[in-house]
Amino acid sequence: MTLRSTLITCLLVSICALLLGTGCLALRPAPADPNAMNQPVFEPLARGDFVTIEAISVNGQTAPGKSLESAIDNVREYFAGELRLAEGKPVEVDLGDDGALSMKQFESILAGAKNSGPFSIVVVIAPDLEFSDYPAVYSFGLSSNTAREKLGDTTPHRISVNAREFDRRVPTIPLFFSARDGWEHMITHELCHALGVPSDKSHAWMNGHCTRPGCVIYNRSDKRSWAWDVLHLGPPNKLCNECEREIRAVQSAAKEQLLDHEQSYDLARWAKPIYLNGLSWILATSSNDKIRNGERAVELATRACELTEWENDGFLDTLASAYAEAGDFDSAIEYQTKALKLAEEKNTEEYRKRLKLFRGRKPYREFKR
Ligand SMILES: [Zn+2]
Ligand SMILES: [Zn+2]
Repeated sequence: MTLRSTLITCLLVSICALLLGTGCLALRPAPADPNAMNQPVFEPLARGDFVTIEAISVNGQTAPGKSLESAIDNVREYFAGELRLAEGKPVEVDLGDDGALSMKQFESILAGAKNSGPFSIVVVIAPDLEFSDYPAVYSFGLSSNTAREKLGDTTPHRISVNAREFDRRVPTIPLFFSARDGWEHMITHELCHALGVPSDKSHAWMNGHCTRPGCVIYNRSDKRSWAWDVLHLGPPNKLCNECEREIRAVQSAAKEQLLDHEQSYDLARWAKPIYLNGLSWILATSSNDKIRNGERAVELATRACELTEWENDGFLDTLASAYAEAGDFDSAIEYQTKALKLAEEKNTEEYRKRLKLFRGRKPYREFKR
């Protein structure tokens, strides 16, 4: 096709799409409680943790193309920490005559997921859902926007995808917007809900959605305006500046809180050894005097070692540095020696370097990069 005929085709298709009002994505939110707004933006992103997204396919239903991976790439830049995709074990469920997954089945799939807790997002991709008419729904508790503090540590963030509803509500615009693009947008949109933006109360009337049409978390229930947006802006897969600003503000506030000496750490919330170890390392070895806290570092690293039955050389290495920072060099030498004994070849040079320091009654300092 020549450039001219391509342009004419595009123009005709756009006009048809607008006239028919079919080029749209009807992404309606689950009913939200306006009082539940203004929740903190998803904390792990602010603290720089590891967040795992586990996708579970029900009866062979999957996200087309690499739409799930693309969606994760879209939100990755809003995470201070690491975002990982874990392929969940596909499940086969008896969906009965209506072919739709029941809430009970959904809950049991979640219970069987490999990942749980507030550092995980479980995405269940089903051919149809009995309990929802929306293409996709994000929730943290039993209902959307349940206050996170009230929930236990094992509840993961959850996204349910309803492929049938998606097909029914999400027509494609040839050349502009494929079904795969629709899936990418839908999953990006739901992942942004998991981040908790926009958290400002002024958005409550939009049921937790942004009020700016260029934003991925804008609620696109109006078919014509959606088609208009795609044709003019392309599929909006990014947060608007305001929403992004909200995230950045929470990230820096959380960082300050994290390093606040007066703040007490709830060990249950830092249940995973890797988080305890990461925080302890910063508190033990930072070259910033305002950040170091030897006592706290010992507490956190001890817990990380307990949880791994004193068999992780990296955590023992952290504990040694924490003791050195707290001024207890005898313990520092003891644990550094244990770390060395457990270590594989690759770490021993670093470990020996620190052991030498501790023998000379000196703590270890991480230099700023
Ligand atoms: Zn939404
Ligand atoms: Zn926005």
